[in-house]
This record gives sequence, C-alpha cells and structure tokens, in this order.
Amino acid sequence: MQVFYSINTLQDYLKVQRKKGKSLGFVPTMGALHEGHLSLIEASKAENDLTICSIFINPTQFNNSQDLAVYPRTLEADCEMLETVKCDVLFAPNAHDMYPTLPNLKFDFGDLERVLEGKFRPGHFNGVGIVVSKLFNIVQPNSAYFGQKDLQQCAIIKRLVIDLSYNLKLNICPTQREKDGLAMSSRNKNLTPEQRKNAPEIFNALQKAIELLKIKKPASAVKGFITSHLDNIEGIEVEYFEISDFETLQPVNELSERKTALCIAAFMGKTRLIDNVIV
Ligand code: AMP
Repeated sequence: MQVFYSINTLQDYLKVQRKKGKSLGFVPTMGALHEGHLSLIEASKAENDLTICSIFINPTQFNNSQDLAVYPRTLEADCEMLETVKCDVLFAPNAHDMYPTLPNLKFDFGDLERVLEGKFRPGHFNGVGIVVSKLFNIVQPNSAYFGQKDLQQCAIIKRLVIDLSYNLKLNICPTQREKDGLAMSSRNKNLTPEQRKNAPEIFNALQKAIELLKIKKPASAVKGFITSHLDNIEGIEVEYFEISDFETLQPVNELSERKTALCIAAFMGKTRLIDNVIV
C-alpha cells in the first residue's frame, strides 16, 4: 500500500494513475478502522482499479472538544487492516495541510440538517460539508463509498454532490454489525465492558420499533415506548429516537409506501452511539 501524508504528493501520484486510465474509488474515514470501514474498501476494490482510503480526524465536524479529544487514534493498526484488504493507497494528511487557515465558508443544508444529528450537533454538517468537498477536490475520485450507518451524512453528501456538480458516483453501503447486532463504530472502542454488554439493546430496540409500527402503533406511541424502555436500561441515555422519511429525513407519523428510517442516538456514559434501520 502506498501511503501519502501530504496533499501535493498524493495529487502528483493520482495524476499519473488517471493518465494511465485507472478508475479511482475513494473511501473517506476518520480511522480507528473496523470491519464496517473494510466493507467500503472491498466495495470500492470490486468496482475500481485503484482504491484510496483517507484517514483524517476532521476537527471542523466536532461540535464538542471533549469528543474530539477522546476520538480513538490507531494509525498503525489501521495500516495493518488496510493491508489485509489490499487497499492501494492511504491518504493521512495532517490538520495543518488540510486547514492552513480555518475556512469561513458555511454550508447550510436546509431542512435536511435541522433534524436528527444536525439538530443535536450544531455545526457538524457544516464541518462534514467542508471536509468532504475538500477531499473530493483533492482526490477527484470516479466513485466514493459511504456507510448507511451515518444515514443523514449520506443524505447531506448526496445534496453536496448535486449542488456542487461533483462528477462522481456515490455508493451507500449497508451497516456492518457485530454478531449481537451492535453497529460497528470506532466509538465502540471507548465502551467499558459493562457498557459494551448493554450496547446491543439499541439495535434490539430498533427491531422492536419496527414490529410495533408494522402492527400500526402510531409513531408518537412507539417513540415514547422505545425511549423509556432504553432509558430504563442501566447506562443508556437516549438523545433522540425519530421515525423519519428516508429521503427527506423529516418525521412521519406512520409507515407508508415510502421508505421509512428509524434513527437513534444514545449516550453510554460519555460515548455517543448512533444507529438506524430502514423499513
Ligand atoms: P468514520 O470513520 O466513522 O467517519 O466512517 C467512515 C465511513 O465508514 C463513513 O462512510 C461511515 O458511514 C462508514 N461506516 C462507519 N461504520 C460503519 C458500519 N458499521 N458499517 C458500514 N459503514 C460504516
């Protein structure tokens, strides 16, 4: 695997590859890699000549400095994992190269960011918009791969690609889970053994919510039931649980012909986990 730490050297290398007619698949990450990330690399490898993974913990998308401080950093282990799936290129820039000065640019994704993560993490999607557009400009991939685990991020990036006319194909890949259902996440590394034991209750609750909606329980009742059920479990504190239209992410009252997303964010101690399922 070729590793690049600077934007210039990566771009010089990719220019040559593009001239050779190689198609470029891109997987942006913040590192602390797990099988979820690797599934994106594998999807990219299946469709492209060259797969580039970036690892950059983007400071502009953290609205909470404590969250940024404790975000796991495991570059050496990440490199080993990327080698196991034969990733071609790792791009691991430093913050100064990415942000010689902090951008004043502001993204506003409208209603799409006033709900769910955007509502509870003000400024988060501005940071996501900035870093993803910078990375797209730097790498200029033919295809880019994102996980459905971050459903609202996928919706925001879909808009970004349309609004800024990026000439690339977006691919949304399914959420990879541990055997007990817990969605894989870099943040799982910060759970204590006790918290880890209870963490699958979040996914179990989403499954229960689907059952209730299918027997026509109104969304408001399901939301109340699931939230209080989870809040009663030792160590779990729900930040939001929403039943939303899959495309617009606006709240809905019941299941319909359109795809519905059940989205949750919950704290386990200081660790904040998110998950979603689609019906
Ligand atoms: P992150 O490093 O958390 O910023 O994630 C990098 C990419 O991996 C994003 O597109 C995430 O949606 C995706 N991702 C994270 N966790 C999972 C998972 N469990 N399954 C599939 N994709 C994931």
